Amino acid sequence: MSDEDRDADPTGTSPSTSTPTTRSRTGRPSIRRVPIRTPSTRAPGGTTNAYVLGDLLVDPAGRHPDLDRVAESVEHVAVTHAHPDHVGAVAEYAAAAEATTWAPSAFADRFEEATGAEPDATFTEGDAIGSADAIAIATPGHAVDHFAFAVGEGTEHEGAPRGGEAILCGDLALAEGSVVVSREGGGLRAYLESLRRIRDRGPTVLYPGHGPAIQDPRSTLDRLIDRRLDRERSVLEAVEAGASDVDAVLEGAYDRDLIGVEDLARATVRAHLEKLLKDGRIEGAWRDRL
Ligand SMILES: [Zn+2]
Repeated sequence: MSDEDRDADPTGTSPSTSTPTTRSRTGRPSIRRVPIRTPSTRAPGGTTNAYVLGDLLVDPAGRHPDLDRVAESVEHVAVTHAHPDHVGAVAEYAAAAEATTWAPSAFADRFEEATGAEPDATFTEGDAIGSADAIAIATPGHAVDHFAFAVGEGTEHEGAPRGGEAILCGDLALAEGSVVVSREGGGLRAYLESLRRIRDRGPTVLYPGHGPAIQDPRSTLDRLIDRRLDRERSVLEAVEAGASDVDAVLEGAYDRDLIGVEDLARATVRAHLEKLLKDGRIEGAWRDRL
């Protein structure tokens, strides 16, 4: 029997419960990834992943038939962060499912502004949401309101049971490439700290906001940390070689063509300079140049 069959006819094997589709046959909360095309945004690869985690819907970036199909069993809606490519259908699904919308308590306004939905409830670090007890973990850096959601052992992943912790990591990490980190997002120090926090939890799988699941969390997170430290070194070298404004550092620190992504690269360089300034590794005059 396929998942679809089970959803269509829950009477065969499921015990009678008020929310028959939030748990799989095995009784474990299930995780499902639904890539959604987000063409009008700058989403990496042109899609954003929505996740259905038990009765919690995370990052409904747009309408999708697969989400429509499970909307009835959704009781909670949250986002990893309120960037435009993660929030497109929050209001619609929340209304359709009469679900509880959740926002980080410190960023409820931001959530409402981005989603058009007033949050019904707020969470902070360590709170658990929904039937899967998804634990909120503050992971700023890419966005100041960024949270990851961790679910523990005994979760069923896209149909297959799996041990260890799974973390919906939003735009903290990607299987390939890297994400934008800006001052507005919390800065590089915060980002590196977020990467280390998630790495140190030792998850067995990460589910990112874009692209496929990350099956080797430790090496992916180490790669992202190393990459930032490498970039930091090249930014510092550019400054030491005489670059005295952001554009000059940009030129010195990148040896590839930046057509189309120059603004993102500039934001990254700014974030690095900001961190170096905070760390006392470049002169105070940089404060006025950022
Ligand atoms: Zn984002």
